[in-house]
Amino acid sequence: MTTPVRRQYLGVKREHQDEILLFRMGDFYETFDDDARLLSRELEIALTSREFGKGQRVPLAGIPYHSLEASLARLIKKGYKVAICEQVSDPATSKGIVDREVVRVVTPGTVIEDTLLEQKANNYLAALVVEGDAAGLSWVDITTSEFATTQFDLSHLSVEMARLQPSELLVPDGQPDVDDLDIGDRTMLTPLAADAFHADWARETLLRHFGVASLESFGCEGQALAVRAAGAVIDYLEQTQRSAVGQINTLYTYSTADYMVLDAQTRRNLELYEGGRWGSDAVEWFHRSALRRERVVMLLEAVSDMERLVNRVRGHSATPRDLVGLANSLEAAPKIKVILCEDDDADKVEWLAERITDNGEVIELVRQSISDDPPLSVGDGNVIRKGFSPDLDEVRGASRNAQDYIARLEQKERERTGIKSLKVGYNRVFGYYIEISNSNLAQAPEDYVRRQTLVGGERFITPEMKEYESLILNAQDRIGEIEGALFRQVCQQVAGHAEQILSTARAIANIDVFASLAEVASRFGYVRPVLDEGDAVTIKQGRHPVVERMLPAGDFVANDAALASGGEQLIILTGPNMAGKSTYIRQVAVIVLMAQIGSFVPADSARVGVCDRIFTRVGLQDDLAMGQSTFMVEMVETAAILNHATPRSLIVLDEIGRGTSTYDGLAIARAVAEHLHNNPRLGCKTLFATHYHELTQLADILPRAFNYNVVVSEDKGQVVFLRNIAPGGADRSYGVHVARLAGMPASVVNRAWDVLAELEDDSRVNRSSPRRRRGSPQPQQMPLLTFTSPVVDELLALDVASMTPLDAINKLYELQERA
Ligand code: ADP
Repeated sequence: MTTPVRRQYLGVKREHQDEILLFRMGDFYETFDDDARLLSRELEIALTSREFGKGQRVPLAGIPYHSLEASLARLIKKGYKVAICEQVSDPATSKGIVDREVVRVVTPGTVIEDTLLEQKANNYLAALVVEGDAAGLSWVDITTSEFATTQFDLSHLSVEMARLQPSELLVPDGQPDVDDLDIGDRTMLTPLAADAFHADWARETLLRHFGVASLESFGCEGQALAVRAAGAVIDYLEQTQRSAVGQINTLYTYSTADYMVLDAQTRRNLELYEGGRWGSDAVEWFHRSALRRERVVMLLEAVSDMERLVNRVRGHSATPRDLVGLANSLEAAPKIKVILCEDDDADKVEWLAERITDNGEVIELVRQSISDDPPLSVGDGNVIRKGFSPDLDEVRGASRNAQDYIARLEQKERERTGIKSLKVGYNRVFGYYIEISNSNLAQAPEDYVRRQTLVGGERFITPEMKEYESLILNAQDRIGEIEGALFRQVCQQVAGHAEQILSTARAIANIDVFASLAEVASRFGYVRPVLDEGDAVTIKQGRHPVVERMLPAGDFVANDAALASGGEQLIILTGPNMAGKSTYIRQVAVIVLMAQIGSFVPADSARVGVCDRIFTRVGLQDDLAMGQSTFMVEMVETAAILNHATPRSLIVLDEIGRGTSTYDGLAIARAVAEHLHNNPRLGCKTLFATHYHELTQLADILPRAFNYNVVVSEDKGQVVFLRNIAPGGADRSYGVHVARLAGMPASVVNRAWDVLAELEDDSRVNRSSPRRRRGSPQPQQMPLLTFTSPVVDELLALDVASMTPLDAINKLYELQERA
């Protein structure tokens, strides 16, 4: 005979065969059968067994409810999915067995526990649907409720995936070519029933979820793939995250093709320029007074991530400590507002102060209801503050009286019986008992009821102590129940204020950013940049904010920069390795970025025409070692830049083409530079750092291309990096100087000088070589790897015109043999 609980378990398990099912039974989450074996192995916990009906023993492994979070973390990290089945009816009032329901399925993309999340990073769950050359991709972060969807050409997939790095990707079950797609290796694939991605079903899912009649307002009506992916996300959340799914109240549709490519109209609409200006006003306000900053920063220390806390409250996963954290944070907010408003120049930050709402009601509620230092979870008592609920206080009072009685019982009974060794104890089976050793048994009073015989004595109870015992036990249950109900009620009330709390949270987040930017600006001597709508970037004596900090004070060499779409548009920066090329081009990009977010910048002055996007393609130091696949990434990223840049963009390219052979690399680098310069749709400001000296020729051919180099000089036969950026291309022979500087043996360095001289001679020969004369459109100047070989020499010396075809074939065989 199978017991009802076992039947209930098997029913739930049938629905959750792909997950480890944690089945709540009292204080434990239990697992059975294969799940138990797996859990015991993965978590190194004991595997036992339990009897369900006569003769039916089933393997069992359980974890105490309070260690759920830690266990979850380990299981999710190992790549498992976990279904959490809770008791959803009250055991005290249920007839028969307690109702149980899976309330959440935890997967890498749907984790909300802080300990599992890499704090501060987004955790995305994404869904992908592919049809032909097109893809639909939707993603959600359930801790912040951010939900977006898009569709694009399949060739954009790897760039989008690299940008989002979702923890989990939903794909239609049975989609054949998923393995061929480039989705990155941080992402776990979850096949979902293909129906969920079906166009009609997905659309219906979204309409139902948002309670709307059309998807027009979300911008995805008519974008079939985007809708299909987004519908699948909601479908999955409905199955796995009953409570979180309700908080997703909007969907944002974007397009990767014009992602952040902002035409003039859009820029005005988005107030990008305004935003930057307001931001820098606010930064300036904090910059003016160190005292202001210190006072605000001190208050910010009490503030936690309110956005996440509010969402946990709304998602029924908040702990009592979360509520206290929220109240502490909200309490700091009005104090910050006071500081913002107290001075004459408050108009600069008025817009921030206005967004800090009055959350007095929420604070009051939490303070009155939740105790100061509550336990992590509800159920063990001590969550609700004394005085908040008369019912609760009464039960607590009764419980305390009963506990006092038990505490005094031992002393009382010793006096009554005269047995000095009489003990009062407790165990789980018999509850409280009185223990008397065999030698004193004769003195046991009449009203003692025998319960258990031990080797050295007997255990008794009295009817009166059992009454107190049940008072205590009932009271504990009752306290847990009342606290649970009150806590849920408080959470619900707090959730009612969510929008207003979020407004405060966002304002405080902004203030945090502006105060930090001002602190950095004042500590390191940054200036306020001028933002305008022009197309130029002019920086006087700019510095790289990070490299500067890593060097001893005063060692960083500042440099100017001037770029303009119609003027010096393409800057080709040459110089030996380690000269400072990367640092310089990144520094320009960082300064533009900082200016646009409202920050001050590390420079003497800067004027920045707003850019719609900053593209960077910056190689890693060990790109070369990583080989082919890295080269592919480099090309994919470069292609994305060429496809998406506009005249308003700023592009920073570092050593394009380095991931392949010299010839290929140079050819690609040159073609890319020409495209950026010549394509009428582009004309974007570009900084191009390269060690391909050959690229300096471009400045002669392309009117808006200019050569700059990082100056190196020589002092007593040693190379000295001056770090100045000067007009003109670099002298290539510094590479050999650097080799010497690096400690290469003198013989190698001398040989390098010789080879260099030979190569330069060769390149002169090459220029008048037959191929060149036959009119190749580009100068064939690739002397870096030009090599002399007897075979080549002999080939060049042949008088082809006087040879018969047979001679030629024989000669070719002979040369091939020797090559
Ligand atoms: P490259 O790209 O030419 O190989 P990097 O930009 O990586 O060279 O610079 C190499 C090192 O030179 C940096 O790590 C930094 O320590 C130093 N450096 C670069 N630019 C400067 C500068 N303007 N002032 C002082 N040191 C610099």
